[in-house]
Amino acid sequence: MAQTEEEKKTKAREATRKWRANNRERANALARASQKKWREENPELHRARAKEWKAQNIERFQYTRAKWRKEQRDHLNAYRRKQHYKNKYGLTIEQRDALLAAQDHCCAVCSARDPGNKIGWVVDHRREPFKVRGILCHFCNLALGNVKDNTETLHKLIHYLEKHKCQT
Ligand SMILES: [Zn+2]
Repeated sequence: MAQTEEEKKTKAREATRKWRANNRERANALARASQKKWREENPELHRARAKEWKAQNIERFQYTRAKWRKEQRDHLNAYRRKQHYKNKYGLTIEQRDALLAAQDHCCAVCSARDPGNKIGWVVDHRREPFKVRGILCHFCNLALGNVKDNTETLHKLIHYLEKHKCQT
């Protein structure tokens, strides 16, 4: 029995759909290229249509834009974080995480389980010669900074506290 025109079209559409499903990346690339070509050939029409679409779908437009901006921000923050560890401590994020895991996920000095601030754990380092010493909580890092890593001052502080300890 001969196929009707309608049956032929349906079959062709089905074949195209199957090909697209099996070659998604290629199909998307082809679609993108064809859309780009059309936009380049019809810049004014494209602008007018985009403007019309935006006016009719303002909520969706705003949602998509906010989502895109957040993704860009997250991406940029992750990149900056990675660069920060690399430039300042010569560590990858993975090496820093491994250090913290080796300390059982707590401060290397006071064993606090919470870093004590919003920024998070601090990579503590000796300056001259440079060496990463460990991961500290915010307060222990401040304490070392305040005494400028001076062990003598720290001993004196302990002595001072012991001397004035309540004896009762
Ligand atoms: Zn601590």
